[in-house]
Amino acid sequence: MQLLGPGHIRDLAELLDVTPTKRLGQNFVIDPNTVRRIVRVAGVGSDDVVLEVGPGLGSLTLGLLEAGAWVVAVEIDGRLASQLPVTVSELAPEAAGRLSVVHQDALTLESSPVAPTRLVANLPYNVSVPVLLHLLAALPSVASGVVMVQAEVGQRLAAGPGSKAYGAPSVKAAWYATWRTAGQVSRHVFWPVPNVDSILVGFQRHGHPGDEALRRRVFGIVDAAFGQRRKMLRQSLAGVFGDSASASAAIEAAGLSPTARGEELTPDQFVELARRCPHPTP
Ligand code: SAM
Repeated sequence: MQLLGPGHIRDLAELLDVTPTKRLGQNFVIDPNTVRRIVRVAGVGSDDVVLEVGPGLGSLTLGLLEAGAWVVAVEIDGRLASQLPVTVSELAPEAAGRLSVVHQDALTLESSPVAPTRLVANLPYNVSVPVLLHLLAALPSVASGVVMVQAEVGQRLAAGPGSKAYGAPSVKAAWYATWRTAGQVSRHVFWPVPNVDSILVGFQRHGHPGDEALRRRVFGIVDAAFGQRRKMLRQSLAGVFGDSASASAAIEAAGLSPTARGEELTPDQFVELARRCPHPTP
């Protein structure tokens, strides 16, 4: 199958009168080798229904179709969403029946025309974490995935306690899945060339530690703990637990030290703490 190279990408952009915008994180992949690498790392095959967020001009979409997958592509930009089936019909007519395009903001997606098994995407960088957290919550059929994100964000998603990169996104992402970094990507495979480095991140979903009410409490505690990163837990969680004495009692009951800081706690320890939180946090 023919994938999109730099010439195709520029021709398509010109045809559609698209000037890539930073606001929508529009950096298009112009290198078929990178596309095939992402598809390979994601382990996509003909049994898969892949959810692709932000197909753009179709670089990765064609690679996913080449691997035999069905693709549900969710694109916020109407011009790109309308053009995608046309591009696929022209370059890969035999695969056109395996593509569904949804013209929508991925942050508002609550269901998919076909239940996706995997998420594979070159994500818009400004919303990559909210999009991932939203889709993992909204689409439980997604069992695994590989996404390209800004390198700093990818390191955060995969970080464990005690490391500099560990923060609220690490703990929230760990609620849904186990994460790993899966290789760096050169800036020069994009048009336009971004001013940040990129990385692939893979995830494998695991069972959630609890129900939606517990998840909300965990996320509230995580936001409070990392919002005041330098403070000890008994201070940073005083608001969530009512006051610092109640926070200390709950922290000790969870087997933790009230003088610990959020960055020292594992995701499981945040869950233990949330189980002792009496107040539903908004
Ligand atoms: N997948 C294409 C590629 O690899 O060349 C394009 C990737 S580009 C980094 C991100 C794409 O996401 C753009 O097409 C952009 O219009 C789209 N996008 C941005 N925000 C979005 C959102 N909230 N929901 C869905 N698509 C979005």
